[in-house]
Amino acid sequence: VIKENQRNHYKIFESSITEDFKEMLTIENELRRAIKQKQFEVHYQPQVDISNNQVIGFEALLRWKHPSRGYISPGMFIPLAEKTGLIIEIGDWVLREACRQNRKWHEKGYGPTKVSVNLSVKQFLQKDLVKKVRDILQESKLDAKYLELEITESMAMSNEAYIMDTLKGLRELGVNVSIDDFGTGYSSMKYLSQFPLSKLKIDQLFIRGEQKQNQAIVKSIIHLSHSLDMKVIAEGVETKEQLEFLKGEKCDEIQGFYFSKPVAPGKAERFFSYS
Ligand code: C2E
Ligand code: MG
Ligand code: MG
Ligand code: MG
Repeated sequence: VIKENQRNHYKIFESSITEDFKEMLTIENELRRAIKQKQFEVHYQPQVDISNNQVIGFEALLRWKHPSRGYISPGMFIPLAEKTGLIIEIGDWVLREACRQNRKWHEKGYGPTKVSVNLSVKQFLQKDLVKKVRDILQESKLDAKYLELEITESMAMSNEAYIMDTLKGLRELGVNVSIDDFGTGYSSMKYLSQFPLSKLKIDQLFIRGEQKQNQAIVKSIIHLSHSLDMKVIAEGVETKEQLEFLKGEKCDEIQGFYFSKPVAPGKAERFFSYS
């Protein structure tokens, strides 16, 4: 009986690996098709100046409008896109699309707002990233000061000499770089103070937690940002209480469902009446 059981276990294990693998290949193929068939969209979530409630920018968030599965969240497919290298092509498209859209809004007389674009590890480590960003800005006629790139702590804190060069190159272009999900990774305080970074984005985890410890962390990150001459934005703000706390602590900007979920570009235009 025991033997039988073990054999069954083995079989189940083996077949689930095959299933996972098949599933992965399917999604990979579907991702390739999605690029060709233009199934990706960029949605925009407003970033608000806490002192006057003005919309000063948007985070560009990728959406996959799958023909039969509906909207698929980036958390589901970005890791696979990263693994297969498809993220480069997809990421270039997001960057181009976000710059084009923001420029279009400026031409309509809105804003001028900034647009923040998330970079994945592979994108950030591209040797020609600075040149690529420069070309896309030129092509879309967007002034560099209206583009911000978001990287994570782990991306910034690896291979520091190389990262420093890339960050300097971006800064010379006039593009700002912020650290996303700050507080969940590992940051070297040495590099945090030396790198040309413009903003820390406090991870939603600390904003949502009601405990005293989370509030202490939020206060410290706000203080740290300002001491290092950086701006600070709180992500995932959902309630008035969270907003009031952040206002009291002199956080600069907020982003979250309290103000708005990420929306399609047409819907984002209604926020311009606030700015
Ligand atoms: P992120 O850059 O930290 O983006 C913030 C995420 O939090 C977004 O999820 C946003 O919809 C969500 N969010 C914003 N406000 C609230 C709130 O008040 N409450 C809650 N519960 N959630 C909120 P989304 O759009 O699903 O994106 C997930 C992650 O996928 C992003 O996290 C980012 O790491 C990645 N991602 C999205 N678009 C891109 C992209 O174009 N390129 C790359 N490389 N990564 C992307
Ligand atoms: Mg982000
Ligand atoms: Mg984040
Ligand atoms: Mg995140």
